[in-house]
Formats: sequence, structure tokens, C-alpha cells
Amino acid sequence: MSTNAELFARAQHSIPGGVNSPVRAFGSVGGTPPYLVSGKGALLTDVEGTEYVDLVGSWGPMILGHADETVVNAVTDAASHSLSFGAPHEGEIRLAELVIDRIPAVDKIRMVNSGTEATMSALRLARGFTGRDLIVKFAGCYHGHVDSLLAEAGSGVATFSLPGSAGVTDPTAAETLVLPYGDREAVHEAFTEHGERIAAVITEGAPCNMGVIDPGDFNAFLLEKAHAAGALLIVDEVLTGFRASATGAHGLDGVVPDLVTFGKVIGGGMPVGAFGGRADIMERLSPLGPVYQAGTLSGNPLATAAGIATLSQLDDALYAQLNESVTTLISAFDDALSAEGVPHTINRFGTLFSVFFTDREVRSYEEAKSQDTNAFARFFHSMLSQGIYLPPSAFEACFVSKAHTPDILDRIITALPAAAKAAA
Ligand code: PLP
Repeated sequence: MSTNAELFARAQHSIPGGVNSPVRAFGSVGGTPPYLVSGKGALLTDVEGTEYVDLVGSWGPMILGHADETVVNAVTDAASHSLSFGAPHEGEIRLAELVIDRIPAVDKIRMVNSGTEATMSALRLARGFTGRDLIVKFAGCYHGHVDSLLAEAGSGVATFSLPGSAGVTDPTAAETLVLPYGDREAVHEAFTEHGERIAAVITEGAPCNMGVIDPGDFNAFLLEKAHAAGALLIVDEVLTGFRASATGAHGLDGVVPDLVTFGKVIGGGMPVGAFGGRADIMERLSPLGPVYQAGTLSGNPLATAAGIATLSQLDDALYAQLNESVTTLISAFDDALSAEGVPHTINRFGTLFSVFFTDREVRSYEEAKSQDTNAFARFFHSMLSQGIYLPPSAFEACFVSKAHTPDILDRIITALPAAAKAAA
């Protein structure tokens, strides 16, 4: 059996950086990522037989924990009929109806294969609907690796301190106005100067890719500004959808945007994304309207089966449990870091939270970037060595699941004092 280090070394020969998504390489925290062989509930096991409590949850989808029996059975059953039809089937309708029933902003929805595809398609639709070209986005928000949305993006772009990405042409970058998160004056100025060209404002339901930031009433402000100028508001709920609350960010701030993007939880761990919203906008999509959008594997039976089996299990009791778990963890993180005098700020939005290694309030990308990422790296490695798998970046949210029962939370809490000492 190979070790983690042997597999990581071998991977460098065939996969750039050894990984299929940059943050997985542990680039900012250093060291070797564990090579996982199985996940069950809240636990992961690597090739060396080491067990970890998982606080990443595949970056959000695993809200029920790994290998949930109902989801696995649904996918297995779907697979026995066909892996992909590339043609209509009832599962697509059932998943669409489940989302529409729960999310007030969504009259119609279309499935794609990733969150990136969802935001990319939503932008095209917003431009096609309004006949305008500019998009407003916020520094530190991540909307997938869409060319025009990579400037000052969060997630891996923040982790590796990149301003954006090489390969994005200047004309493409110029179609996006990047504003500081939460800066109402900057939004006002952008609309004053470019109002007639702005097709849409896109924002995360709550920023979670520079660490978690509570939007307060910023989304309501954006909706008002966008509509006053004839532009659309796109709320990207790829991460917050069915995660921050039963109805995502909508459920917490009540803002009903024109378009919403989804991913992660609605696919229960399968490759999925979706975008939906007002019927009059969605009906501009081909084959009804002139905005073209398509996908060979979109709405495939495995993804829809996993999504249906996941969404069907999300009830009030689950969100109450997740909220309680997060309250318990936040208080334990706070106690341990305070006891060692480690500067920290913990932000929460619904069932999502993150720890910033700074004593400043964190409400923007600039403030998030001011944290001590070396202290985070020391904290991260101490937790990992004690069998707790945190997101390997100081700019990500922590994810709990239904499988994070009190005994699992205790394992995390027990590891905190030593990790806080390491960070000090
Ligand atoms: N939007 C947000 C808010 C995200 O957090 C992510 C991924 O983390 C994406 C879009 C992109 O989703 P995907 O990685 O499925 O392309």
C-alpha cells in the first residue's frame, strides 16, 4: 500500500501540482495532503489508515455526511438503469420541483454540472435579457473559475495571493467592475457612472470564500440599486444554498433576487450546478429564447437521484442540529484561542463559520487578508496531526453535517487546546 507522500510525489508526474483543484495541494499550509480511500458519516480514512473528523465535507455538498445510505441507494438504483440518457427523464423534473417549492426566487431552474457553469450561464442570461454588457462583482467573492469573475476572487485565488488569473484577456476583465465588499458608496458610484451598461450585480448569498462574512442587509441594498438602474441581481448560492439555512441566504436575509445559482448540496456529492429565477428571465433560454445554454450530462440521472435523495432529507430538525453544532464549535474555538492569547475573530452566517487569525473585525477582503496565515497554518497542522481535517486554507468556511454528533464534536474540541498553543 502506498503512503500519502508516495502518492503525492507520483501525482506530480501526471497532474499539474498533483491535484485537480489548487487548494487541495496544501500549497498555503505546506505538507502533504492525505490521500483518501473512504468516508463514512463525519469520518474520513486515508491510505495509511489514519482517520480524520471531516470539517470540509467536500467543500459543502456532504450535509448528510459521507456515504449516506439513502443517497448511495438512490444513486446505485439510478446507475442500474442508466448512467446518462442525454434525454429527458422524470428525475430532472422532481429535482427542479424540490428547489422551486423551497426557494421563493425560483420559478424555473436549469441544471448544469458545476457551480462554475451555473454562474457563467447566469451571467450570459443576464446579459441576454438586459442587452447590457457590464457585471458588478465584489472582491473576495468566488463564483467559480469563470474568466470574467476571477479578478480578486476568493477561495484558491485568495489562498495563493493571486490578483486574478493569467489567460483572462483584458477585454474580458474589463467587462467586470470589481468593488470592495460591503462598500455602498462604491456601488452607488458604479451605477452613477455605468448604470446604463450594467447587466447584473453578482454576489455570494454570504461571502464564504474569503472566510465567512455576514452580509447584513447588503443584499437588500444591492437589489434596490440594481432594480433602480434596470439591472438584475444574481445571488450566488452555490455554497450557501440549502446550507446556510433551509432556504440558503434567502432564508436569513429575505432578499428575493432575479437569478440564483446553486451547486454543492443540490447534487449531494455528484457533479452538479443549477441556475434559476424569474420565469420571464429564464424563458429567454434556448429553446424558448435566444440565449444559448446546453450540456451533454446536464440533469443526468445519477446527479438528480443524489440531489433528490439529499434535499428530501433536509428538514427543520437537521438545521436545528447543524446550528447547535456550530454554536458549540464556535464557543470551543473561541475558548481555546483566547486561553492561548491567539488573536482571532470568528464569523458566522447560519450554519457556516470561519476563524480568522486577527483580532480585527472582518467584513471585507482587505480585512480577511490582514490575518496571520502562518498562525493558521500552525493551527491547521496541529489539528490534522490530531485527526481533525480543516479546510487547508485560512480563507474558507468550515462545514458540519448531520453526522457531526456530540461525540464527533468532542473529538474536535479535545484537539483545540494543543492547536491553539501551536498557533500562539
Ligand atoms: N460559487 C461559489 C459561491 C462557490 O463557493 C463555488 C465553489 O466553491 C463556485 C461558485 C464554483 O463551484 P464549482 O467548484 O462547482 O465550479
